[in-house]
Amino acid sequence: MDSRMTKTPLQKNHDNVDQDQFLTILTREDALARFEAALFPRPVPSEQRSLGDALGCALAEDIVAPIDVPPFDRSNVDGFAVRSADLALAGEAAPVRMMLNDEVIACGTQPVRPVLSGTATSIATGGPVPRGADAIVMVEHTQPAGFRAIEIRRAASPGQYVSYAGSDISRGEALLRAGTMIGSREIGMLAACGIAQVSVARRPCVAILSTGDELVQPGASLRPAAIFDTNGAIVTAAITENGGEAAFLGAVPDDEQQLEAAMRQALQTSDMLVLSGGTSKGAGDVSHRIIARLGKPGIIAHGVALKPGKPLCLAVCDGKPVVILPGFPTSAMFTFHDMIVPMLRRMAGLPPRSDARVTAKIPVRIASEIGRTEFVMVSLVEGSDGLIAYPTGKGSGAITSFAQADGFLRIDALADQMPAGAEAEVTLFTPHVRVPDLVIVGSHCTGLDLVTAQLSHAGLSVRSIAVGSLGGLAAAKRGECDFAPIHLFDEQTERYNAPFLSPGLELVPGWRRMQGIVFRKGNTRFEGLSAEAAVRAALADPACIMVNRNQGAGTRILIDRLLGEARPDGYWNQPRSHNAVAAAVAQHRADWGMTIAPVAHASGLGFIPFAEEHYDFALVTARKQRPAVQAFLEALASDKSREALAQAGFRPA
Ligand code: AMP
Ligand code: MG
Repeated sequence: MDSRMTKTPLQKNHDNVDQDQFLTILTREDALARFEAALFPRPVPSEQRSLGDALGCALAEDIVAPIDVPPFDRSNVDGFAVRSADLALAGEAAPVRMMLNDEVIACGTQPVRPVLSGTATSIATGGPVPRGADAIVMVEHTQPAGFRAIEIRRAASPGQYVSYAGSDISRGEALLRAGTMIGSREIGMLAACGIAQVSVARRPCVAILSTGDELVQPGASLRPAAIFDTNGAIVTAAITENGGEAAFLGAVPDDEQQLEAAMRQALQTSDMLVLSGGTSKGAGDVSHRIIARLGKPGIIAHGVALKPGKPLCLAVCDGKPVVILPGFPTSAMFTFHDMIVPMLRRMAGLPPRSDARVTAKIPVRIASEIGRTEFVMVSLVEGSDGLIAYPTGKGSGAITSFAQADGFLRIDALADQMPAGAEAEVTLFTPHVRVPDLVIVGSHCTGLDLVTAQLSHAGLSVRSIAVGSLGGLAAAKRGECDFAPIHLFDEQTERYNAPFLSPGLELVPGWRRMQGIVFRKGNTRFEGLSAEAAVRAALADPACIMVNRNQGAGTRILIDRLLGEARPDGYWNQPRSHNAVAAAVAQHRADWGMTIAPVAHASGLGFIPFAEEHYDFALVTARKQRPAVQAFLEALASDKSREALAQAGFRPA
């Protein structure tokens, strides 16, 4: 069987026989090759722009320098233009007297008198070197010597303090190449040559549409079960970053007619259309069906062996690319950066984005599914010998992992893993590596942000990577972070954190977090009870639903202690964060759970205190003297942090 095409039995619900591409999953490479073949070659349209308007555009043609810069031999200093041979024998004990020519060459003054042997002409920085002169003597190295004469006590080498015509840019040289993105440097080069107009690639107009009944634009209020439209904003920005003229047209509901009208309208006014969402096989996923009606050849690839990003749909309608990105923002970003950006840049006359790729080492083994090209979000930190790419939020559809990520790496479809220590190419979301001053890897706590805020205000960048307490400890042992925030309870010693440290790590006390039962205020079942009594009350009512925590969470240990052998309804609902527990209770999906007091209060929930948990820091001793670590320790101990922590409901240690 051809491994590049696999039938998927799920995809048979389409009665339209023209759309047989739906039945196949292409490899990433195949999808790219077909998309490219359908789009290129194509001319890159160009337009004339004035220099002031050309910033960020790509040059459409090579530019040859029309003049020399500087255009004449130019003095670099204030002083005197001389013939160097006259000064060959000059020295401390052998001053040479020179007669001054009756001329002062200021900037912008064309000299008229030649410098003859035995004479010098006063010249300013930027003045043209006069005929006969071959060197400049600095005014500081001369002395007045009577009427219209100076004395010089040192030799001058030929060419001294002279910038020759064309030494910066020489006429006829290739100044800038087609495809160069015009920045302030390029504008300076063009201005120096007197070029006021340049031919630049016309930015392709790219229309962006989001699809989904659930989408609300940022700024509007979020109704229940709705989410903010993230893709619209990200894709619009990423298109602008990559040479496109982006026009965001809003979000369209999952309605075939409305969407078709919006897509047709968008294509009329643009060179390319990027949609997101609605490309899976879910109810209401309609956008891909419309494409087939929009122009030839239509769908090129729908379903690509990517993880995540399988529902990606690539199409060309009457010469215009139409792309439907997967709905999940992370999937949309991976596929957009990996597969759409190179094509967009080509249409925009830009070279491939080499500035947005770095090589970094992988600290942990990353398992991968064979048969699909896998994208893994990474966060970059500085290791002892180069960059380290820390996988974050793997497999997650959440935008939150973005916050920590600098970019992503790609694991080949045929690889079942990327081994620890492997070097990987990372595609950056922004073309700058932001290596943080302070790296925190471990369990995240909102209290941490209150402390690190002080560092950020002092100009230190902080990267906090949430991998849980145990993951943080492992990273600290490998020396990949400055410290690991942990809250681990040792049942044997009944102590927090200290028993988990290994040599090379030391404990810095952080703060205490009160764990307790959350419930909706006004729920009389719980009001006024102790935690033990509240759980008894909950267990007594079969209609009462709980929300649990994941195995391994410190909070889970406390819940299990309260529950004993009981397994009430909701026990298997095991989210991984304090916030998810509060959200479940606030949204009536559960009636009680356990979370920390600050989270309960922030959600406006009732709270019954149960046990205090110690949130401390495992500091890598070898990194203790780093300025950012010292700054953190100071911030932690400061009154300001302690007050902010107490205010938020924590108890500083
Ligand atoms: P879909 O491909 O439309 O089935 O969407 C897959 C997931 O992505 C769903 O959870 C959608 O709510 C979400 N999603 C789709 N479009 C967007 C968007 N523009 N912004 C944020 N999330 C989205
Ligand atoms: Mg949708």
